[in-house]
Amino acid sequence: MSAEIARDPGIRAAYETDASGVHLVPEGVARPESVEEVVEIMREAAAGKTGVTCAGAQTSTTAASITDRGILLSLRSFDKIGEVDREARLMRVRPGALLGAIKRAAAAEGLLFAPDPTSEEESTIGGAIACNASGARTFRYGATRRHIRALKVVLASGDVVQLRRSELEKNTVGYAFAHDPIDWFIGSEGTLGVVVEAELSLLPLPARVVGLGIPFQGEDDAFGFVVRAREAATVVPRCIEYFDDKAFEIARKADVSVPWPADANALVYVEQEVAENFDVVLDSWLALLESANSNLDPQIFDGESRLRDARRFRHSVPSVMNERGARFREAGGRKVSTDWAVPYRNLAEAVRFSRALAADRKIEQAVTYGHAGNGHPHQNYIARDAGELATIEEVVGLTLESVLGMGGTVAAEHGIGKIKKKWLPLQMTSLQMGMMAAVKHELDPLGILAPGNIL
Ligand SMILES: Cc1cc2nc3c(=O)[nH]c(=O)nc-3n(C[C@H](O)[C@H](O)[C@H](O)COP(=O)(O)OP(=O)(O)OC[C@H]3O[C@@H](n4cnc5c(N)ncnc54)[C@H](O)[C@@H]3O)c2cc1C
Repeated sequence: MSAEIARDPGIRAAYETDASGVHLVPEGVARPESVEEVVEIMREAAAGKTGVTCAGAQTSTTAASITDRGILLSLRSFDKIGEVDREARLMRVRPGALLGAIKRAAAAEGLLFAPDPTSEEESTIGGAIACNASGARTFRYGATRRHIRALKVVLASGDVVQLRRSELEKNTVGYAFAHDPIDWFIGSEGTLGVVVEAELSLLPLPARVVGLGIPFQGEDDAFGFVVRAREAATVVPRCIEYFDDKAFEIARKADVSVPWPADANALVYVEQEVAENFDVVLDSWLALLESANSNLDPQIFDGESRLRDARRFRHSVPSVMNERGARFREAGGRKVSTDWAVPYRNLAEAVRFSRALAADRKIEQAVTYGHAGNGHPHQNYIARDAGELATIEEVVGLTLESVLGMGGTVAAEHGIGKIKKKWLPLQMTSLQMGMMAAVKHELDPLGILAPGNIL
């Protein structure tokens, strides 16, 4: 493939949607496989003031990786994974490499690339960097940003910059936000530059990990346990995940191999690295569980294949909800997915508030699941038509106002893209918005990169 731009309607249609359920057909599609080709495309785009929206695997839930303004720049085939440097614990990758493939390459050398979005088998490192993707294990290891040492970026002008994260421990030169320009690009959703290479930091692969699925009869008891697990000095969880009754039901149907108690209505799933003694780790969790209001037996996930089962179980929830949402597209409906977060102690209150609103507006309760340890659930609503979509968006808007009142954020994981832009001014002051616009203007004065994303 080359820097050539495909105008064929069939090819353009193949890139018209992502996991948001929104459809936008690009004016053309470019599928470069080298830095030189990306440079050529960006130079031509700048000369013609043509919009360029990057796409990895198009799993964005916010319509960030689709466009009808200019060309779609698919990086998916630009996917080489370089050698792992075991000594330095790093590897270099091209943007289209799938996270799952990167993780396997690292694991083969006894190392861990820690970011773990649920979509890791179907999303790219370019997308993960552009969204600062995170996952269940972010609770312990941090989001993608923490694991990026260096980036090569093609700017809107076609110029190439190399950015390496500073290793300084002290620095008083200038404004703090200018200290590490690499951080401007991580989480910028394709609006500031095209990532064409990344150097990743790797961690030692844990020798053993145990997962524990802890069923509860009620949501309040489950949330109470989340706070205990987070604050206990006796356990070191690497994730604390939550499934409400609806999410638990979807996951149970997707994987019938685990005999969950019939009267369980909520589930907390935790994982911990086992450094030395498995029994000590397990006993610490069981002791903590004794203080929780649950008389249902936990399920233990021990060993790689059982941990993979647990991941599949978890992944079935967003996958099923995406399928459900897609069924209502013709009628103007879709899945509405939130990724707000609050300080973890406020999680129960925030979910209760959203449930009361949904009951008041007579819409079906959201399927609620996700990263409870970080105070960060996903709430998935299904709008069956345009009218229901408007009501759900009203409920989400009011929930977000309440979340912000608790010191929360409107988006903790999936970014803003195109469909969450309306929530941005709820959280950011006009000064913050102005600073972001100034950075955007400095790096992309013609506004050609990812038009419509974030700003
Ligand atoms: C079932 C499911 C589960 C998910 N679970 C999670 C989760 O647990 N955690 C999470 O964080 N997200 C999750 N997501 C959202 C999504 O998978 C992530 O945001 C992912 O990182 C996007 O990667 P991608 O390759 O699909 O990027 P795309 O969707 O193609 O693009 C996403 C954004 O990145 C930009 N971009 C892509 N490549 C580049 C590049 N090379 N240079 C510059 N910009 C670029 C695009 O312009 C766009 O703004 C989930 C999505 C689905 C469908």
